[in-house]
Amino acid sequence: MTNNPFESAKAQLAQAAKVAGLDLKKVDQLNSPDRYIEVSIPVQMDDGSQRIFTGFRSQHNNARGAYKGGIRYHQDVNLDEVRALSFWMTFKNAVIDVPFGGGKGGIIVNPKELSEAELERLSRGYMKQMWRNFGPEVDVPAPDVNTNGQIMAWMRDEFEKITGTSAPGVITGKAVENGGSEGRTEATGFGGGYVLREALKAGLVAGATEDSGRKTIAIQGFGNVATYLAEYVKEHGFKIVALSDSKGGVYSEDGIDVGAAEAHKKSNGSLAGLEGTTEITNEQLLELDVDVLVPAALENVLTADNAEKVRAKFILEMANGPTTPEADEIFAKNGVAVVPDILANSGGVCVSYFEWYQNQNNEKWSKDDVLKKLDEHIVAAFKAVREAQEKYSTTMRTAAYIVASQRIIEKM
Ligand code: NAD
Repeated sequence: MTNNPFESAKAQLAQAAKVAGLDLKKVDQLNSPDRYIEVSIPVQMDDGSQRIFTGFRSQHNNARGAYKGGIRYHQDVNLDEVRALSFWMTFKNAVIDVPFGGGKGGIIVNPKELSEAELERLSRGYMKQMWRNFGPEVDVPAPDVNTNGQIMAWMRDEFEKITGTSAPGVITGKAVENGGSEGRTEATGFGGGYVLREALKAGLVAGATEDSGRKTIAIQGFGNVATYLAEYVKEHGFKIVALSDSKGGVYSEDGIDVGAAEAHKKSNGSLAGLEGTTEITNEQLLELDVDVLVPAALENVLTADNAEKVRAKFILEMANGPTTPEADEIFAKNGVAVVPDILANSGGVCVSYFEWYQNQNNEKWSKDDVLKKLDEHIVAAFKAVREAQEKYSTTMRTAAYIVASQRIIEKM
């Protein structure tokens, strides 16, 4: 089987449908996005020439609320990817129980090749072509790969100019001073930490408890998500023995100081050469003998080729789609517990919902309030998934899809 993300997404739903006996007509509907929009965006380049960019939006399902999901800028953005990502958003939003459906968008572009002014014209151009499909109660985008708070601010401004409204809730992931929420930056990493804490309490991490001394963790990636997860787990008795970035990984049996790693990466551009560590490859990192393995960088890193070599008995999927269905089968056979992405990394979209809610209701919450409410959502989601797992004697991934599907189908 290929690693086509849309096929993986559908296979995950099919498994849930089989195990829980879901309504197959509804499942069929969920296999196709409600709507798929493709636009051409003419952009005036700095040298006076014009380039036409292609932009997408997949609106998967809105039974539970407005479509919701990020917009990515990447040269490899394509139909299958955007469709799969919008599909996953519908299920993620249902697992974490926020009143949103699923959407995802993108533009085929390498943003590093554009000047700041060109990037602004492209972002405004996307909104000019798409605005009829967006709105706080219709479809609410957010940042994704290579997009950020500044791009969201341009898009919001363009939407408000065209519609003549004030609509901060049309987009999330805004900077705090521009209507964003406190706690959004930490949300995904900390949310993963809360999930891990609940898993420890539930005895799911083989050989480790909340209070046990030696708990080792290896994290692939050292971006936003990995950094805040690392900060959280360090405070909760874990020893981080490996971290990595796109150039490779570092390992230390004695544990890596996250602050020192951040400082080293800042001044050297990569983790390589961090004092007290040895260099390892990203592949070696995934096969380390640790209690907890966290893919927090890319999709499709755990595959049929390496799943048998994974020695961790507990995997926390912080990246989207890091495990292929074939690898999943191997993990189930080998007794490796996998907390699926739609639960593990749902903290980000949960706080995006809090941002939207604050915008819509003219409220401003403190960071402590945001993180406390996030924790409550995570605890409730984790409990629902565990109950389904026990009821249907299945994996956590299938259980998460069952919980989400039942919630979505009820509204359909
Ligand atoms: P980021 O861009 O901040 O960090 C990505 C990290 O991955 C960087 O450290 C980069 O060096 C590393 N990386 C890139 N290519 C790599 C490679 N070939 N091998 C190993 N490492 C590599 O991104 P992020 O926001 O931390 O997101 C990480 C993952 O989490 C992505 O899969 C993203 O879709 C997912 N995610 C993020 C959020 C969020 O709120 N940021 C929410 C849900 C899911």
